Amino acid sequence: MNVIVCLKQVPGTTDVKVNPQTNTLIRQGVENVINPFDTYALEEGVRTKERYGEGKVTAMSMGPLQAEAVMREAISLGADEAVLLSDKAFAGADTWATAYTLAQAINKIGQHDIIICGRQTIDGDTGQVGPELAEILEIPFVAYVSQIEEIADGRIRVQRMVEEGHEVIESSLPAVITVVKEINVPRLPSLRGITRSKSAPVAIWSAREIGVDESRVGLAGSFTKVIKVFFPQRVSQSEVFQGEMESQVDCLIDRLKDTGLT
Ligand SMILES: Cc1cc2nc3c(=O)[nH]c(=O)nc-3n(C[C@H](O)[C@H](O)[C@H](O)COP(=O)(O)OP(=O)(O)OC[C@H]3O[C@@H](n4cnc5c(N)ncnc54)[C@H](O)[C@@H]3O)c2cc1C
Repeated sequence: MNVIVCLKQVPGTTDVKVNPQTNTLIRQGVENVINPFDTYALEEGVRTKERYGEGKVTAMSMGPLQAEAVMREAISLGADEAVLLSDKAFAGADTWATAYTLAQAINKIGQHDIIICGRQTIDGDTGQVGPELAEILEIPFVAYVSQIEEIADGRIRVQRMVEEGHEVIESSLPAVITVVKEINVPRLPSLRGITRSKSAPVAIWSAREIGVDESRVGLAGSFTKVIKVFFPQRVSQSEVFQGEMESQVDCLIDRLKDTGLT
C-alpha cells in the first residue's frame, strides 16, 4: 500500500502579522507546526501501511525551505520518505496552483494507492486543495473521512461524516481522501522515529525537477489573489450595575431599549 500524505506547514500561533503590501503572512520568527488536521492524515497513512503490511508512506509538502523541519517531524511520526517542493516559482500560489504543483510531484513519484490530505488548513482555511488535487489527477475523491473500513481488490470503503450522521462510500483506487480529526488519535514520535528523522534524507524538488509548466505555478499560475487581509475591529464596552436586583434589572432593560434592538 503506497500512501502519499500532503502536509502543510502553518504558524503555530494565532498571533501572526500580515504584510500590508503583499497581504501574505509574515512567517519569519514565527514558530511553525504541521497543520493540525494533517497530523491525522499522516497517522492514518502510517496505520494503513501497518494494517496492510507493505508499501511506504511518503510525506509531501509545498513550502519554503524552512518546512524541512516539519518534514523531519513527519519522519519521526512514521513517514518512510519526505519530499519538500520548494522553489521561488511556487511562491504566492493559490489553492489551484498548489494542487497542480503537488499533482506534478505525485506523478513524478508514480506508484500510489491513496493520497491523504487534512480536511483544511488553519491558515488558508479553504479546504480546496484535496478536491482540486483529485480533479487534476483525474481520480476519485472522498471528503471528511472518519474511518477507513476496508481496502481490498483495488477498492477502498470509508465512512465519511455528513451533517446528520455518516455515509459509507466505496471507491476505486487510487483516490484522494481528506480526513477529519475523529478518524484517529495521532501517536507521539517514537525514540526510533526521532533518531531516524535526524539523519533521513528529505528530498527537495524544484520546479524544474518536477517538470511543471511555470505559467501554472506560484502567483503566475493563480486564478485567485488575496486582495486584502484584515482583523475585524473589536469594540467592546462593559458596565456594572449596582444596587438592588430589581433596580439592576430595570437599568439593564433601559440599556437594551437604548440599543434599539428590543
Ligand atoms: C490568510 C490567508 C488567506 C488565504 N486565502 C486564500 C483564498 O481565499 N484562496 C486561495 O486560493 N488561496 C488562499 N490562500 C493561500 C493558501 O494558503 C494556499 O493556496 C495554500 O497552499 C493552500 O490553501 P489552504 O491553506 O486553504 O489549504 P486547504 O485547501 O485548506 O488544505 C487542505 C489540505 O490540503 C493539503 N495542503 C494544503 N496546502 C498544502 C501545501 N502547501 N503542501 C502540502 N499539502 C497541502 C493539506 O493536507 C491540507 O490539510 C490564503 C492564505 C492565507 C494565509
